[in-house]
Amino acid sequence: MSALGMTLLLAIGLLVFAQTARRRWQLMQVGRTALDRGDRMGDRLRSVWLYMFGQLRMFRYKGAGVAHALIFAGFSVLSLRTIILAARGFSSDPEFGFWLFDDDAPLGVAYLFLKDLIGIGVIAGVLYFLYLRIVVRPQRMNLSAEGIVILCLILGLITADMTYEATGYIRGQQAHGTGLFHLKTPFASLYALILKPLLNSEAVSNLYYLGFWGHTVIVLAFLNYLPYGKHFHILTVLPNVLTRNLDGIGRLRNIEDIEGRLEREETLGVKQPRDLAWKDVLDFYTCTECGRCSDHCPANNTGKLLSPKQLTVDMRNALYENEQALIAIRPADAEADSDDSGAFTFVPEVVNPDVLWACTTCGACEQECPVFISYIDKIVDLRRNLVMEQGEFPPQLQNAFRGLETVGNPYSAGPETRADWAEGLNVPLISDKPDAEYLYWVGCAPSYDDRSRKIARAFVQLMQKAGVDFAILGPEEMCNGDPARRSGNEYLFEILAKQNVETMQGYNIRKIVTTCPHCFNTLANEYGAFDGNYDVIHHTDLLAGLLDSGRLKAVNACSETVAYHDSCYIGRYNDIYDPPRRILEAIPGLKLVEAEESRDRGMCCGAGGAQMWKEEEEIVRDDAKAGSGKVNHARTNQLLKVLPSGNGGGGCGIASACPFCKTMLSDGLNDQGREQVRQKDVAEYLWEAVEEPAGS
Ligand code: SF4
Ligand code: SF4
Repeated sequence: MSALGMTLLLAIGLLVFAQTARRRWQLMQVGRTALDRGDRMGDRLRSVWLYMFGQLRMFRYKGAGVAHALIFAGFSVLSLRTIILAARGFSSDPEFGFWLFDDDAPLGVAYLFLKDLIGIGVIAGVLYFLYLRIVVRPQRMNLSAEGIVILCLILGLITADMTYEATGYIRGQQAHGTGLFHLKTPFASLYALILKPLLNSEAVSNLYYLGFWGHTVIVLAFLNYLPYGKHFHILTVLPNVLTRNLDGIGRLRNIEDIEGRLEREETLGVKQPRDLAWKDVLDFYTCTECGRCSDHCPANNTGKLLSPKQLTVDMRNALYENEQALIAIRPADAEADSDDSGAFTFVPEVVNPDVLWACTTCGACEQECPVFISYIDKIVDLRRNLVMEQGEFPPQLQNAFRGLETVGNPYSAGPETRADWAEGLNVPLISDKPDAEYLYWVGCAPSYDDRSRKIARAFVQLMQKAGVDFAILGPEEMCNGDPARRSGNEYLFEILAKQNVETMQGYNIRKIVTTCPHCFNTLANEYGAFDGNYDVIHHTDLLAGLLDSGRLKAVNACSETVAYHDSCYIGRYNDIYDPPRRILEAIPGLKLVEAEESRDRGMCCGAGGAQMWKEEEEIVRDDAKAGSGKVNHARTNQLLKVLPSGNGGGGCGIASACPFCKTMLSDGLNDQGREQVRQKDVAEYLWEAVEEPAGS
């Protein structure tokens, strides 16, 4: 072809791209919070294999998943073609293809066949996405012109390549009398058969060169367009998946030396871009704006201001808009290290505080995101700055904070009454029975809240019946700190965590059982950072095991149809989905039904992320997917949908495995006049089935 032409094209295209890439790289260094994601390389590479090359998460939306996988496969295959065509620019051989990949070499033939097939797949994928964007127009997606431009560029790339191939065959026939149909490229051959009668030889020649140069021009145009929009993910997805959070959503980032930072009056949490970590910026670059996160966000789906996708887009755009100023003050410019003029404050300049306070930390967004973007850490980090530095948070939280600070529980109840729930049940204190196999970590709700106390009473009676050796801390137990941590009061969380760990070290506690998923998550996943390492089990897991081993037997029939509600903190957070279902299924006569939104797609009850201790945010949209209103009402309605509606709800029940879910769902039923539908913890259901009938 033309070596000079190809040299100029590549030089201009790649140099301009290098300039943009350099700026994006520098912008990532604006974040000064240290974060090491170079550990567990085997697991990281496995993630890349499964989730980038295998596209596993994409298939959570079937149509879009298949279409995306086809386009991804096409891109992977075509990248070699791009290199081959660029090399042909410097070669006089029109079939040049790096030895084994010459057009007639065995590998070359196999490659051409694959490319030909995948080209059709890519066209099908592009047409599906155009249909989705232009006709279906799902609410979750940003229907910007960028999406259409990119789809057209992809279509142009495939068309250019096929045109180059097909017109090459026609030219071969005209010059050497070779056949038009080549088995190695059936679709390009068919295209040649269609084109041949329509074109004279000059047009064939022009199209041949257009196809050849068009391929490289489109690839370079594409490359240079990517960093300016959501399709940047094509380049950043690999590092983003490779450096993803392997600890899961149950373990929030710690603040190193929080006391020292307080003394030195250093920023706590995230206030400005400099407080981010490099990975946060990489997350922003990688968002595809597919909207899957927002599509499952309980706050967004009930009309609140929070849309996780929009949060990412807004923070990313703010960085882009201030790029020059931010790059000038990044730490690499040591002189400017303390000068943050030119930086902006995220809240409220970019993010409305109502966005942050509406988050229930349910994890649905992170579960859905196909490229592993983290939300909970970012939202909590922004809350941390508001709470610990600015002193700005919903006023109702003040009561919970005060209770936690003064008496170790958000109910502000007297610690001396912490074990009152167990009255008459002969539950031992660990101080009297230090060698008990299990510490039953009761938690604040089962200790102080009347509805939740019933869970604790049912559970301990089940343990007693099965002969489980356990004891409780009683007045020595304090809140595990989850409400403080999730609401951004990290300092208070650390005080509570350290105190609890110290108490348990005094008894050499190793095995803990909890009835609260929030206690479970914090003790199992977060206390390790304070030297509190325990074998923690959720009560549903313990009870299912006791049923399996025959130490418990469900004998009393229950004629209810029951929908089980998955708690986020045991479900999505800790992958405990089956034990509660196994318990319900073991109860004779009970019919277990599943809501459409269940297991890892279960919707939050609305209590997590410290929502339990504050009012819900204002409703700003009336077109919400789950109905504008309270999260617990929306969730209750989803569960009611799969229960028989006759008899006013009598004979039906909603089961849960979390004291907070119990509160939210029973409120949801009561508020909507559905009191006849019973709402109980699985332990309560099991106790009814196991308990000897009165008088027997
Ligand atoms: S954690 Fe839940 S509530 Fe928070 S942004 Fe994600 S989906 Fe929405
Ligand atoms: S954060 Fe993830 S799920 Fe949400 S829009 Fe971006 S890529 Fe999609």
